[in-house]
Amino acid sequence: MYVRMQRRSFSRDYWATQLLVIVLALFSAPALADVPEGSPAAEALQRAEASVIRIIGISEDRRTFDNTIGALDDIQAQLELDTNQMQFLAFVSPDEGKRNTGRQATQDIEAWLIEVSKREDLYDAVKAYAATNPTLYGEQERLLAHTMRDYRRSGMELTAAQRDELTKLEKEISRLGITFEQNISEDETVVPLTRQELSGLPESFFDNEDMKRSGDIFLVGMSYPQFLPIMDYCDNETTRKKVWLAYKRRGGQRNVAVIENIIRLRHQAAELLGYAHPADYETEIRMTKNAATVMAFYEKLRPLVRVKAERDYEEFVAAKRGHTGDQEADLYPWDHSFYLNRLKKTNYAVDSQKVREYFPLEGVIDGLFSITQSLYGLEYKEVTEAVRDAGRPLWHEDVRVFEVYDSETGERLGEFSLDLHPRKNKYGHAAQWGLAQHKVWSSDNRITTPVAALVCNFTKSTPDKPSLLTHDEVETFFHEFGHCLHTILSEAKYWRFAGTGVERDFVEAPSQMFENWIWDADVLKTFARHYKTGKPIPSELVEGMVRARHLGSGMLAEHQFYYGLVDMAYHTMEPGEAGFTTKIGIDLFNEIELYQKVPETHFQAAFGHLTGYQAGYYGYQWSLVYASDMFQRFKELGMLDPEAGRYYRRTILARGGTVDGKDLVRGYLGREPDISAYLAHLGLNE
Ligand SMILES: [Zn+2]
Repeated sequence: MYVRMQRRSFSRDYWATQLLVIVLALFSAPALADVPEGSPAAEALQRAEASVIRIIGISEDRRTFDNTIGALDDIQAQLELDTNQMQFLAFVSPDEGKRNTGRQATQDIEAWLIEVSKREDLYDAVKAYAATNPTLYGEQERLLAHTMRDYRRSGMELTAAQRDELTKLEKEISRLGITFEQNISEDETVVPLTRQELSGLPESFFDNEDMKRSGDIFLVGMSYPQFLPIMDYCDNETTRKKVWLAYKRRGGQRNVAVIENIIRLRHQAAELLGYAHPADYETEIRMTKNAATVMAFYEKLRPLVRVKAERDYEEFVAAKRGHTGDQEADLYPWDHSFYLNRLKKTNYAVDSQKVREYFPLEGVIDGLFSITQSLYGLEYKEVTEAVRDAGRPLWHEDVRVFEVYDSETGERLGEFSLDLHPRKNKYGHAAQWGLAQHKVWSSDNRITTPVAALVCNFTKSTPDKPSLLTHDEVETFFHEFGHCLHTILSEAKYWRFAGTGVERDFVEAPSQMFENWIWDADVLKTFARHYKTGKPIPSELVEGMVRARHLGSGMLAEHQFYYGLVDMAYHTMEPGEAGFTTKIGIDLFNEIELYQKVPETHFQAAFGHLTGYQAGYYGYQWSLVYASDMFQRFKELGMLDPEAGRYYRRTILARGGTVDGKDLVRGYLGREPDISAYLAHLGLNE
């Protein structure tokens, strides 16, 4: 089963998230006895359970694709429709009770799925159908093959005793995973700082209504609108260091213990299933197929990127020495954003605070909407009021809802919501949740249209100033919207392959590709207007931004390699004593990044990718190769060219996971994919 939530990569420690992940192997499902009484998901699980029993009860001579394999897909889609809203509230509801209910529901559903994936009688039913050697094509052939593969991966070829052991492990991993996420989103780290210690920050930082104070002391929290400006603008290094260290210690030692337990259990589960380690288990069903391919990918890239990273390091150290007057000064990770901003200003005439003035949120939404509507042939209609009037509850007053129509046929394609500002206990990064997938029901050919939600944490407006997005935030918005359209424009028949139901290391490609739009002068001219004067963004400013795009790109790429390699190390190396994740984190930091050594932290305690995306962080760089290559076509034909947009919609977005990612890209490109566009994207050729 998948939880389709895309997490954004940590470049600058953002992520992008999507919620339906491959939950455990297959479609793991629990049996009736296991639907806990009083579970918030009880009704949905009983309904799913009844459907499972129905599949098992079909007589041999009447067994068909639709009533067996198709019906299994129906069960998962139905369970998602019945419970996804409830599960989603765990991440976004201001109400603690609802968050708890959502988490409980997720835990019960995952437990049920684990059980069902290991039910002998259901497996027998599927095998009986497979044994008829049916002639299948396209999605159906793929769905049967995936179902059989999932059964193997969920341990159906093990002995009963081994399978019981595996079930126990998987349930414990699921339970601990939910605790891990909860500890992250409810972390309340603050750093008390005086106004003087916060020198260099823009006024908007202090105006923020979410900024807590105790007398003259500011209690700086770890949300993006508080954390990122300190990294970007605080000219007091001691403050930057203090806040950076606090950020890298979120989740605390208790979450270090939780994630280490999870990793240990994953190693045990992988071993039971006959894999060398969890990384081989996880990558088997992705583009890379095994951990060795991932490691070879990094080995090939690292020396290429190192050349640029060394140049970056020199440039940044020189900037720091010039700024501080200390000719011995060295570079630390809490310096990167600060000197990046300074260099942009001094060497490229790009003042990030000035840039923001051209990106008022409403203008960005208008721009994003008109670009995507004309590129892909769509029309969006805001229905927030109608939804409220109809009595459908929205989880917060900030939330806006839009319907998506095909502009040629008038067909209603789906719906998405925007929840864009931070608040207490809300999911802290940027993510897209696919709440319902495109689906043609095997039972009666009815079509369900997709529902997506974008959850971001952009600065709010104040009474005298609209919400002004940084260029990074605009990029994040476009990125997440790329996931959203992947969900909405799906034409896959089966839930399993709909929208973002692609290989995990391909899922970021469409959204990464869409980031390029906000680096194009002609595109920016269509919507970037000064919030006071309405004047379009000056060409010189855009030119400076584009020239500065590759500032520090080598070091940033190495930072991404670091996250990916830590994740791989956790899932390939035998777990050690308590604290082994911290040790690996420190050792690899010193090996992979050029920065000076830093005091001990445990960033993994708040590294949410470790649950759901495990052994998968590399996918951001991997899919960037495909994103960069796919983008070439737009570069040649025009970034606002509707023909290019419709071709892309048809050949990539509409098809979801109905074929392997590699074949998808090959079909779109009309040639083999190539790495050169990716290397140019990093600015390695300069
Ligand atoms: Zn993403």
